[in-house]
Amino acid sequence: METSTEDAQQCDESAVMPRDEPDVPAGVPAIPPASLSPSRASDFMRCPLLYRFRVIDRLPEKPSEAATRGTLVHAVLERLFDAPAAERTAPRAKALIPAQWDRLRESRPEVLELFADDPEGERLARWLAEAEALVERWFTLEDPSRLEPAERELFVEAELESGLMLRGIIDRVDVAPTGEVRIVDYKTGRAPRPEYAEDALFQMKFYALVVWRLKGVVPRRLQLVYLGSGEVLTYDPVPADLQRVERKLLALWEAIRRATETGDWRPRPTKLCGWCDHQALCPEFGGTPPPYPLPVRAAGSGGPQQGRMGPD
Ligand code: SF4
Repeated sequence: METSTEDAQQCDESAVMPRDEPDVPAGVPAIPPASLSPSRASDFMRCPLLYRFRVIDRLPEKPSEAATRGTLVHAVLERLFDAPAAERTAPRAKALIPAQWDRLRESRPEVLELFADDPEGERLARWLAEAEALVERWFTLEDPSRLEPAERELFVEAELESGLMLRGIIDRVDVAPTGEVRIVDYKTGRAPRPEYAEDALFQMKFYALVVWRLKGVVPRRLQLVYLGSGEVLTYDPVPADLQRVERKLLALWEAIRRATETGDWRPRPTKLCGWCDHQALCPEFGGTPPPYPLPVRAAGSGGPQQGRMGPD
């Protein structure tokens, strides 16, 4: 399938190693989804069957160079704030890369597959140099010596009045002396074209809604820092924006609940299928999904049945 650089950039960071949910240990029995994160909400909007594969079946996915580099760079930017303000320099940040790469390999040994066919280490060296360049570019966009984040890699969770649980991990939260809150997210890809900006902001508005529900304060600014292209996208939300996002999430959750109950997870092919790890199991590509691991309520039957196959 043909895919463009732009498409790759749109999905490279969320596609393989989701960063906004805690990992689920392998072997845990399938249970109906109980909460929604920005990544999983985007998955469902992109393709319901992809959501099923990731959330219900919990099928493993191969690490990608782009997503793994994103994880590494995020770790470096987070750790840099451990240093005193005056020492938060580009050389110091770049010097953190080897240790953070070691930590990542220890915590996720599967990333070693990425360079298994690189005995001389040339591709790894190039990949690390690209990570360095991204870290260095950050200093052209923000000055960490003038920032004191209130939170880094903050896990947030809030229950809406409807009972829907929202959760995610926010890269950085800054709080001004006046109490105004800024939510910041780093992206190692390029900034989207204007027609994709709304999609990019969806994740930030999701976080803003969670913070609003948790603290009773609408964040003053949402800020996306694109290290790939050296651009910053900001948006100052108002309550009506977040109420719209809440309505959208409730509608989405209702659709997810129906699909969970019926086992009817439709594939929705797009150009992004080129990045999907599950083509071999996807009916759009001649595959058959694994037996559905949850009880289903067949249309008109009134009773649950076990193990229906996926959409056909
Ligand atoms: S290949 Fe495309 S249509 Fe099939 S599950 Fe993946 S994203 Fe969905």
